[in-house]
Amino acid sequence: MRIILLGPPGAGKGTQAKFISEKFGIPHISTGDIFMRNISEGTELGRKAKNYIDQGLLVPDEVTIDLVMNRLEQNDVKEGYLLDGFPRTVHQGDVLCRMISESGQMLDAALLIDVPSSYIKERMPGRRICKFCGSSYHLQFNPPDEEGLCDHCGHELVQRRDDHVEAVEERLKVYEEQTMPLIDYFEKKKLLVRIDGTREIEEVTREIVEKLRALEKNE
Ligand code: ADP
Ligand code: ADP
Ligand code: ZN
Repeated sequence: MRIILLGPPGAGKGTQAKFISEKFGIPHISTGDIFMRNISEGTELGRKAKNYIDQGLLVPDEVTIDLVMNRLEQNDVKEGYLLDGFPRTVHQGDVLCRMISESGQMLDAALLIDVPSSYIKERMPGRRICKFCGSSYHLQFNPPDEEGLCDHCGHELVQRRDDHVEAVEERLKVYEEQTMPLIDYFEKKKLLVRIDGTREIEEVTREIVEKLRALEKNE
């Protein structure tokens, strides 16, 4: 399966991606995680992306598209993948769709995890992420088994540097202006699947799994 995850910052894309990736056996590709890892390792890509990310802006298309296209040439994604956080602009969507159709493949669904911005502003301050594997937790809604440590790899949990109030406001604005047009874009292609992301994590997972299984049956 080839699936895209759409939704505002903090919608729960990363949280749900972990479950979907395991259940459907497809690699999870998160552009945000790739950028964050490169920033903490101090690579050239990290240096290019850092200023944009800190301000809550999108990393320019030239940088992001190359990164994803290279990733999608690797062997582990031949049978499918779950893209989390890409595409985020209509141009990125166009390039991806063209690449998929030119290689004789199909996109199965664009899952929109829909969450109003009032919920997002409430959620963001409590988000904690694992520095090592990118897993996402929440102080109140999804705490780790052991305080401050990742359930998967035991590394320290930190607050993301772009999760402060000003950057969140900016990211929500950027989402509305640059990413929301993709909702219409995928709706027109009959690929949009809407998920109510305001419910509890397990319920959101259940709805996603149900809808993806239905798609699999129709294939
Ligand atoms: P969020 O958790 O807010 O949805 P991500 O972890 O997906 O954010 O991404 C973090 C940051 O990385 C974004 O705010 C943006 O600056 C950058 N980024 C991630 N994906 C893309 C993309 N497809 N295009 C441009 N910038 C991106
Ligand atoms: P995204 O990848 O879309 O930016 P995350 O998966 O990192 O979002 O989730 C954002 C924050 O909200 C995290 O702290 C996460 O634990 C929490 N969260 C995710 N899904 C839900 C949910 N359904 N209800 C409440 N909190 C959630
Ligand atoms: Zn971890």
